[in-house]
Amino acid sequence: MSIRIGIPRALAYYAYFPFWKEFFQGLGLEVVVSQATTKQILDNGIKESVTDACVPIKLFHGHVYSLKDKVDYIFIPRIVSVNKEKMVTFCPKFLGLPNMIKSSMTGLPPILDTRIDLKKGKGELFKVCYRLGRKFNAGIFSIIKAYISGRKAQARYQRLLNSQLTPIEALNIMEGEDTISPESKQELIFAVLGFPYTVYDKFINVDIISKLRKLGIKVLTAEMVPPKVLLQQAKKVPKNLFWNFGNQVVRAALYYLDNFKVDGIIHVTAFGCGPDAMVDKMIELEAKQRGKVPFMSITIDEHTGEAGIATRLEAFVDMLVLRRGLS
Ligand code: SF4
Repeated sequence: MSIRIGIPRALAYYAYFPFWKEFFQGLGLEVVVSQATTKQILDNGIKESVTDACVPIKLFHGHVYSLKDKVDYIFIPRIVSVNKEKMVTFCPKFLGLPNMIKSSMTGLPPILDTRIDLKKGKGELFKVCYRLGRKFNAGIFSIIKAYISGRKAQARYQRLLNSQLTPIEALNIMEGEDTISPESKQELIFAVLGFPYTVYDKFINVDIISKLRKLGIKVLTAEMVPPKVLLQQAKKVPKNLFWNFGNQVVRAALYYLDNFKVDGIIHVTAFGCGPDAMVDKMIELEAKQRGKVPFMSITIDEHTGEAGIATRLEAFVDMLVLRRGLS
């Protein structure tokens, strides 16, 4: 039986899963992903994590818990940087993630806590993969082949995202499944922005994207903007942030404000997130300055109620329909 590598369906999953899945499978390992978030996963995450953690970190604990008896290793990399941008890193909770998990949870299989710091120089991702591959006694040619497959899968994933699919839709297509096409007539365009693990975890955000589509909204997200285009937006941002995902969200907001004439912006933010407080304010100010585009912030936490979010979304859409004279 092949060695099973568990990947939690949380945090960086929505950004980099295709690369790691393809890489591990290329080494002859079996990849096991935790199921989509459920109440049980959230409850376990709350129980296993420290009380003052943000809800995405609690969810991550829950996903790790759900994998613990099903796999031989759990992949929890310490992601420090994913490009060469100076002074940009990940939130401290990402940097300390493997330690946090090891100190708060017991009975786990070994954790692959590979450090990913691509700022270190050219070829760093391959070096990371080489070390991982050697751990499983893979030869250099297998590692190179698995690495190339991973890069190809990630590039395909990015192309699907650029065609305005969400990560879940893009992943479904890559798995050979049908993607659900939006049901609406799409007269209004909203940018729905936030860290990928708040925007795409349907359970924790009570499926905001589907709710908006049902209300006739075309939804655009940060992941749909090509990374190179996002990087170009950096010049327009009054103050670039230290956090990778925070920068992506602010830059995507500017891109959509300047290029898509969006009718509204919704920022999905996690309760208790320090970096997001700054992101929220920056988007609000930029939206005001650039033609007073309506802005709404939705904060999610473990008690997020479906009815409350639905009511707020409906009110926001009604206000914009009136404003555009679409009713
Ligand atoms: S950026 Fe915010 S939401 Fe994300 S892990 Fe850090 S504190 Fe939590």
